[in-house]
Amino acid sequence: MAAAAELASRDIPVTVFETARTLGGRARRVEINGVALDNGLHILIGAYRETLRLIELTRRQQEAPGLVRLPLELIVHPHFRLRAPRLPAPLHLAAALVCARGLGLAERMKAAGFIAAMRRENFRLGTDTSVEHLLTSHRQPPAVTRFLWNPLCISALNTQPHEASAQIFLNVLRDTFNGAREDSDLLLPAMDFSALFPERAAAFLGLHGSGVRLGVTVESVRRTGDGFELATQDGRFSHVILAVSPHRLSPLIAPHAELAGINALVQAFSYQPIYSVFLQYPPASRLPFSMGGIEATYSQWLFDRGRLCGQDGLIGVVISAAGAHQELEQDELARRVHAELSAHFPGLGEPRWQRVIAEKRATFTCSVGLHRPANRTPIPRLYLAGDYTASDHPATLESAVRSGVACAKLVLEDS
Ligand SMILES: Cc1cc2nc3c(=O)[nH]c(=O)nc-3n(C[C@H](O)[C@H](O)[C@H](O)COP(=O)(O)OP(=O)(O)OC[C@H]3O[C@@H](n4cnc5c(N)ncnc54)[C@H](O)[C@@H]3O)c2cc1C
Repeated sequence: MAAAAELASRDIPVTVFETARTLGGRARRVEINGVALDNGLHILIGAYRETLRLIELTRRQQEAPGLVRLPLELIVHPHFRLRAPRLPAPLHLAAALVCARGLGLAERMKAAGFIAAMRRENFRLGTDTSVEHLLTSHRQPPAVTRFLWNPLCISALNTQPHEASAQIFLNVLRDTFNGAREDSDLLLPAMDFSALFPERAAAFLGLHGSGVRLGVTVESVRRTGDGFELATQDGRFSHVILAVSPHRLSPLIAPHAELAGINALVQAFSYQPIYSVFLQYPPASRLPFSMGGIEATYSQWLFDRGRLCGQDGLIGVVISAAGAHQELEQDELARRVHAELSAHFPGLGEPRWQRVIAEKRATFTCSVGLHRPANRTPIPRLYLAGDYTASDHPATLESAVRSGVACAKLVLEDS
């Protein structure tokens, strides 16, 4: 949708084929008991410049922005709290680290020293290694790793620190903490994700003579003399951007010998899950924050949807990356998450309903030295877009959007 919106904004006609009935892919609306939720509890950060630009480009003036912008605050209730003051970057981060609650002075200085050392190296490693190894080699104290670096690594890379790429982790730290202060802001959606961007983008396409075909699966891409034919459609296309998730790519590219190298790269990917647990408590139930973490066996980040978007009493809990939760039946997982929440926040009461959404292939494993395919393929005018294509970033909304925008630019170059 990013690629399509970008092209439509330059009056290039586009047709988007989406196999699902709802737009959004891995960030889409799901209705449960009449409540519009997302398949996951997505957050954006201020550094997601392209995503924010396209949300603005496609938003009509009278529409609400749909995002709540908060200064960076990381909470691991009740042990740890880091809050960025309104100072210019990078002072805001230095002050946040030095004033963090729940760490001793020596620990805070070690954390600040790590960022300073990485800044001196321009956040570049000679050779990639694991996040765990990087933190150990910089003698990060256990409490700093436990409350700060590990939660950041797992939520940003969706990969456990022993497996996660230290270079991509440093890229995230660079983009979040080393640019403007606003880059580290948290932006929490106050509407569902389909409404926030892809449905606005679809309306925007309509205004520019382009369109979206929902419920249409592209089964194959055939080369013709001067373009491409998609198996679902009579029409012919001069350029094709394949924007499917990586595990759906192989059937489309395997028949093309020129794409064997790309096929081998994506076949070598492994995937990490993200589970989202929604619990509907009585409407008066509240968490002491809009978003914060707890240290528990299963629950990681908690979102109070009442505070965020008026869905009173609805608490969403995110469990990123592989872990013990995958062994449990969904009802059992919801029961255990409720028990963890009740232990931390005894006033919540009993849930009226609960639902687990398990995205088993939420993102690729962001492992050390992973090779990812480029946007351009060996077949002229056939491109790849998505969070998995080669970039500095882990699998995020922003990497997907940037990849789409990059493909749109290639289409313009090749036209
Ligand atoms: C639960 C969860 C939580 C997440 N949380 C965050 C977060 O907080 N912040 C963040 O930045 N990122 C987060 N992510 C990651 C983010 O959602 C993804 O990186 C991003 O949505 C990927 O977008 P994409 O366009 O690359 O792929 P997708 O969203 O997978 O889009 C691919 C689309 O192609 C369609 N498709 C597939 N095959 C075909 C076909 N043959 N024909 C037609 N259509 C087809 C699919 O239906 C889908 O709509 C999360 C992901 C999940 C699952």
